[in-house]
Amino acid sequence: MNIAVVGGGASGMMAALAAAEKGADVTLLERNEILGKKLRQTGNGRGNLSNEAMGAQYYHAQDGARIRRWLEEFGTEDTVAFFGGIGVLVHGRDGYLYPRSDRAEDLAECMRLALGDRGVRIRTGALVKSLWPGTEGSVQGTPAEKKPESGKEPGTGWTIRFTEDGQTIEASFDRVILACGGMAAPKTGSDGKGYYMLRQLGARITEPLPALCALKTAEEAAEAAGVRALGTVRIYAKEAGAQGAPLPIGKATGELQLVKGAISGIPVFQVSGEAIRLLNKGEQVTAELDFLPGMPRQAWEEALRQRCRPGRTLLQLFTGAVNGRLATELLKEQGLAADRSAEEVLRESPEKLFMAWLSVKGWKREVIGSSDFSAAQTSTGGVPLSDVTDSFEMIHFPGLYVTGEMLDVDGLCGGYNLQMAWTSGYLAGRAAAGEVSEL
Ligand SMILES: Cc1cc2nc3c(=O)[nH]c(=O)nc-3n(C[C@H](O)[C@H](O)[C@H](O)COP(=O)(O)OP(=O)(O)OC[C@H]3O[C@@H](n4cnc5c(N)ncnc54)[C@H](O)[C@@H]3O)c2cc1C
Repeated sequence: MNIAVVGGGASGMMAALAAAEKGADVTLLERNEILGKKLRQTGNGRGNLSNEAMGAQYYHAQDGARIRRWLEEFGTEDTVAFFGGIGVLVHGRDGYLYPRSDRAEDLAECMRLALGDRGVRIRTGALVKSLWPGTEGSVQGTPAEKKPESGKEPGTGWTIRFTEDGQTIEASFDRVILACGGMAAPKTGSDGKGYYMLRQLGARITEPLPALCALKTAEEAAEAAGVRALGTVRIYAKEAGAQGAPLPIGKATGELQLVKGAISGIPVFQVSGEAIRLLNKGEQVTAELDFLPGMPRQAWEEALRQRCRPGRTLLQLFTGAVNGRLATELLKEQGLAADRSAEEVLRESPEKLFMAWLSVKGWKREVIGSSDFSAAQTSTGGVPLSDVTDSFEMIHFPGLYVTGEMLDVDGLCGGYNLQMAWTSGYLAGRAAAGEVSEL
């Protein structure tokens, strides 16, 4: 079996290794000069490659049951064993798995060495521009004109056209695995070219949107910019014009980061995908931040009475409980200067102080957008799961497989996106090489 893998990122390298292990003749084409450019940046350079807590509930996808089956076929333990087999020892921190060296670079390097060991032909600096079914050249028509008929018989092969060293080359293969990534961090090479090629063929693509990223807010909150604080973010949504209270749609706790005109940090990343999808549908999305997640609201209300002592400024009431810059912002939003006398404000406008005080446990922000793809860790959207088999072969394009972030499945932070890259890459590579899936 002669297989081309387009894209030498996490899922492409895995697919190439799995196919070569089954005896296929594999060529891996990567547009960058190095393999795994994004992989080398993951987990803040440490490479959070999977998680001990694995399951469909950590993913957003059309069909959770299929995610479960795929993870049963190639999940965390298989990943750890696979990496052990190519020299990467794995260790965990609170369930998050990393290479023992804590270097994401080592994941890419060990994969590259294993590709060499298994005889995979690696062509870096090779940008694939189009592909079409069949083994005829494109001289008589552009690839877009050579649209395949739906339900084409398998086994007739695919031709890809790519540029390398300034030359345009066409080559035919029995099967092609597209592993071009989504659209997040496009400087690493995943700029949507894979989706473009699929659209040229007539395939459906669910609109890609950024995910695992900061959320832009209508309020600037300039005083609090730069603050990092433990907290819980809750996201609510409401259809435009709908009656009633907004519905809760997600919640996460961890270190929140406040940026001018945006909220960020891992908890915000965790809820960002859902928020962005709803915003894209025209719903109104709000975020509510609680900076004292362990403390009941009543206890915090009570604390105000205890802290109101003679001679204190407003800011001093918050000292020891909340970051001073955050408190200054909360007071400012109620029209109060942080250096005013607390006694005076309690006499003149206690409701404003009370509002500022309560906002520590429920600071509402109107979500108006997200950071763009360049600052996102993944993308949501892509090839609908209903358009691929359990071997990741495209139902309407036999012999063409799609893996990794190109698929319309995205996971939470914590090693889940790389796990999906390994799972889909492994299962697709093995199937493309001719191994019949048991799924
Ligand atoms: C900063 C950052 C940190 C992250 N940290 C983590 C983490 O710790 N844990 C985790 O699970 N996930 C993490 N992710 C997400 C994870 O890296 C991705 O989900 C994963 O890399 C997707 O793998 P992939 O193979 O589908 O795509 P990619 O890794 O993006 O690889 C796609 C490859 O295809 C190549 N390519 C694209 N088009 C063409 C073409 N036309 N011709 C030839 N080559 C092409 C690209 O150059 C690229 O090398 C992080 C992402 C970012 C941006």
